[in-house]
Amino acid sequence: MLNSLQKYFGYKEFRPLQQEIIQSVIDKKDVFVLMPTGGGKSLCYQLPSVMQKGLTIVISPLISLMKDQVDSLIAVGIKAAFINSTLSYDEINNVKKNLQNGKVDLLYVAPERLRMANFWSFIRMLDISLFAIDEAHCISEWGHDFRPDYRQLAILKTEFPKTPVIALTATATPMVQEDILRQLHLDDAQTFKASFNRENLKYHVIPKGDTYGRLTEYLEAHSRESGIIYCFSRKSVENLTLNLQTDGFNALPYHAGMDKADRTKNQESFIREDTNIIVATIAFGMGIDKPNVRFVIHYDLPKNLEGYYQETGRAGRDGLPSDCVLFYSWGDRMKIEYFIREKSDDKEREIAYQKLQQMTDYCETRLCRRKVLLNYFGESFHHKNCGGCDNCRSSTKRNEFDGTEAAQKFMSCVARVNQRFGINYVIDVLKGAKSERIFQNRHGNLSTYGIGEEFTKKQWQAIARELIQLGYLRQENEPYPIVRLTEKSKDVLFGEEKIYLTKYEEPRIADAVALPKTLHSELFERLRQLRKRIAGEEDVPPYIIFPDTTLTEMATYLPVNWDSLGRITGVGDKKLKLYGPRFLRVIVGYCQEFNIEPTGTSRPRAKPKRKKRSKSEYDTLNFLQQGHSIEEVAKIRDLSCGTIYAHIEQLILKGEAIILDRFIPRKKQRKILKTIRQVGIDYLKPIKENLGEDYSYEEIRLVRAKIMAEEMQKNER
Ligand code: ADP
Ligand code: ZN
Repeated sequence: MLNSLQKYFGYKEFRPLQQEIIQSVIDKKDVFVLMPTGGGKSLCYQLPSVMQKGLTIVISPLISLMKDQVDSLIAVGIKAAFINSTLSYDEINNVKKNLQNGKVDLLYVAPERLRMANFWSFIRMLDISLFAIDEAHCISEWGHDFRPDYRQLAILKTEFPKTPVIALTATATPMVQEDILRQLHLDDAQTFKASFNRENLKYHVIPKGDTYGRLTEYLEAHSRESGIIYCFSRKSVENLTLNLQTDGFNALPYHAGMDKADRTKNQESFIREDTNIIVATIAFGMGIDKPNVRFVIHYDLPKNLEGYYQETGRAGRDGLPSDCVLFYSWGDRMKIEYFIREKSDDKEREIAYQKLQQMTDYCETRLCRRKVLLNYFGESFHHKNCGGCDNCRSSTKRNEFDGTEAAQKFMSCVARVNQRFGINYVIDVLKGAKSERIFQNRHGNLSTYGIGEEFTKKQWQAIARELIQLGYLRQENEPYPIVRLTEKSKDVLFGEEKIYLTKYEEPRIADAVALPKTLHSELFERLRQLRKRIAGEEDVPPYIIFPDTTLTEMATYLPVNWDSLGRITGVGDKKLKLYGPRFLRVIVGYCQEFNIEPTGTSRPRAKPKRKKRSKSEYDTLNFLQQGHSIEEVAKIRDLSCGTIYAHIEQLILKGEAIILDRFIPRKKQRKILKTIRQVGIDYLKPIKENLGEDYSYEEIRLVRAKIMAEEMQKNER
């Protein structure tokens, strides 16, 4: 299992539960997988597809993603294909032919196929080893994304009783989970439930106030990263995008009111990293699969925690640290309440209110936000300090002060105004404001009028919020927000209890995402540029070339030779051959430029040792060492000359001592070397064009490999 994992995906180890799940699949059991976004669900059916005989059929609702998913798999050497409505009749027939000839290991199909009788009769003729149902919650009406076509899947267990089924979802609610099992008739399925804690996500809640300024401060500090900003309405999406664009940010809008072509264009631009910020309503997200979204910002309050969890879940699917920032205000809450009030169904309205209350509780809590979020989904979280939410981070250095007197002042003022006013009004009285309203209410004569000069308005607001959180005050919102005393207030008012409150400090959110200490960010940026260039050449999204995790590792461990590059997570055999040389070149160049000694920093060798010498290129080496020419070796081995040349290139890059003079005349070598110095080493085409007809691509590649190998060796010394 580990060998296949390394060979195809270049990963050194399994994520939690993956191995157990794959084992069950291989043992032909039915399996139900509950894992949060980014947990690594797809691997649970992708890896078995290459490990066992027969076809794995994946049912997935995300038509827009299928092509990219299949491209990613082909890029690592897995025989994958898809059938959906974007293909022409001929293209579908072509895929079917390949299926019949056993040339496909993994087939993605869209749910609409399940309605077609001829689809079922076709697949019945195939040797199917596994059905994988991705986004399995689509079968449930209780879920947030019901697809009627998914209902057809109920017949799987009766029509294919012997074929195992794996159903996967990131849905956290128990009701939907039960429904999925029932609908699919998975009576004996083994259930694997991962924690829904997203360890790499950091949660921050920032009170609104100079919100745009704070936002741009954050974006400036993260200008090289991709992120999503969610807004409440289409109008605010448009306004915010315009402002950001005017201020020079690379942002595009996305909302349901735009026409489809524009939406697709903007989404594509985001995925291909031509744009790094998408400003969107919640319409954006389902059906995008960009693993390196580094931040999700809620510019307005979400309506409930399910939505919030899902939207923030789009950050950091690759497991790297990512930020979830929420801007919160009471005004937003009122706005949402207004819409809830419009609902005609009593029950629905009540549930919506309750969910909104839980959402605001999350925003106002002084407890660990991760804990609140997980508790909401029925999961307990036992750590005292999660280290990744603003509350936990500030509690370690929280500045407390004896707030008893402040609390007494505030509470008695609430009492003096007969518990009929909101926080800000009470503060105005405390601070002795000379407002029309206070004058009319004759509150200028109260004993608490003007006794609160020692704190600023913001500080008083923080005190009031904290008192509410601690249960010393209660906020009511109907018909407009007012603060009232509670049972607990008495103890403080009559001086029997001391209260410690948090000193208010201006929140700062620009603290950069903490990347590993040794990360060479300049190199990371160069690797990112290279990745983008290659992605452009191949017309695929950058993450298909390599994910951010892989680039981060490269920029941390600085692999400067073939073997150490192969040990980087995400570099499997195929990609090492395809992209290895160009990435090595950038890393080596960087180390030379900055005089960095890469030895000793390389990633430790993985437990399962890569098989080293059994490779085909070493057979070629043997024959060459016996004195055979390239043509002869090709003949003996029944391979093309091109393949033998490719072997020689690999061998040179691996540091094998190969003398080029045998294959290319000295004079030609020198000319190629000179040209490479002139036009650069990265692209073959300009080198070839410069040299003309007399020089072949093969010759150029060999000389190029030699130059790179020498650079690498220089560096290792
Ligand atoms: P999900 O479908 O659960 O949201 P994915 O299957 O898309 O998650 O996986 C999320 C990311 O984690 C992908 O970039 C994937 O390549 C990566 N990944 C999955 N398994 C591993 C592993 N064992 N080691 C390293 N990365 C992994
Ligand atoms: Zn926490």
